[in-house]
Amino acid sequence: MKDQLMPMLEERKDEIIEIRRYLHEHPEISFKEESTANFIASFYKEKDVEIERNVGNGYGIVVTIKGEKPGKTIALRADFDALPIKEETGLPFQSKNEGVMHACGHDGHTAYLMVLADCLIQLKSSFSGTIKIIHQHAEETPPGGAKSIMDSGVLDDVDHIFGVHLFPTEPAGTVGYHTGYSMAGRSNFDLGIQGAGGHGSSPHMANDPIVAAAHFITAVQTIVSRRLNPFDTGVITIGSFDGKGSRNVIKDRVELEGDVRYMSNEVRDIIESEMHRIVKGIEEEFGVKCELTYENDYPPLYNHPETTDFVKTSLENMNDPDVEQIIEFPKFSGSEDFAYYLEKIPGTFFYIGAKPKGVEKAYFNHHPKFDIDEAALLVAAKAVGQVVCNYLESIK
Ligand code: MN
Repeated sequence: MKDQLMPMLEERKDEIIEIRRYLHEHPEISFKEESTANFIASFYKEKDVEIERNVGNGYGIVVTIKGEKPGKTIALRADFDALPIKEETGLPFQSKNEGVMHACGHDGHTAYLMVLADCLIQLKSSFSGTIKIIHQHAEETPPGGAKSIMDSGVLDDVDHIFGVHLFPTEPAGTVGYHTGYSMAGRSNFDLGIQGAGGHGSSPHMANDPIVAAAHFITAVQTIVSRRLNPFDTGVITIGSFDGKGSRNVIKDRVELEGDVRYMSNEVRDIIESEMHRIVKGIEEEFGVKCELTYENDYPPLYNHPETTDFVKTSLENMNDPDVEQIIEFPKFSGSEDFAYYLEKIPGTFFYIGAKPKGVEKAYFNHHPKFDIDEAALLVAAKAVGQVVCNYLESIK
């Protein structure tokens, strides 16, 4: 199967790039990717596969490729949403949708997976098992598309799941992996502190929420410094504090907004419960009323060790000039809704180096000048293709 697949992918290298450029020119933000979904669906229209549309809470597409004989079911996922960013790359195929840009490489993810899927459809008669191709909407904006696709039940029969992400930190030809917790989980919170306003000259007749909020801000940082195991990591940021008032007026109420990041579910739970405890203490200490809304968003991304090792070994034994090196990547403090799949299905999310040629330091994902080396797209197709072939051949 592998001997057939790799030359097929090589032959379609330019087509992958063409598709990526088309998607790049026509980006759409999360939950609004109607044309993108139509474009993807029409690609599969005449092909001999089952296609489900509008899966989950948006325009998600699941394509099911059934092999000759029954066997394991593997899922591959690529996201297809873009970001509300005004592109500044100056590329000839720059975004035509003002203020919207594929600045996270999801155009590349989608392009490589469409062509890889088509090749796998053509090779249907030469494998046992089922391949589910997930073209996922809305990765960038919580609640994201992944959780709703999981909840829809279409992946209930999936044994293992794989996905990749393009990163411009390493050159094309590099594939990265990381075992265990690999990308951060995040939570967010809003805190309203209700005091009692009054004259700045008479604090005893008022109840100042700014003083209470200031104590809260200092106290929450002690969750990280005093409550977490020093070997664990967590970040709490208060990004908004609407304390603006006037010099001699004690405000009635203040609102705070914050963001929390962590690398494990244990840390997520500690930070949440400690924050509730601190808020109770602030109410008691300052006689204010606190309204805390705390939401857990994308979970930390956990790459299953056995599956990650399987990918690493498969790629190391690949002997393909396009896949030059397999390296361990560091953890990323960004978040990814692929984490929802990995909560339920063993699998791994690995990384494809895509640093543009000739630059010393590339603009990172989400930058208006973010760009990729398109040679990385064939690397992605081949690396994931290799994993699929090895998987369907070795795991019975
Ligand atoms: Mn992304």
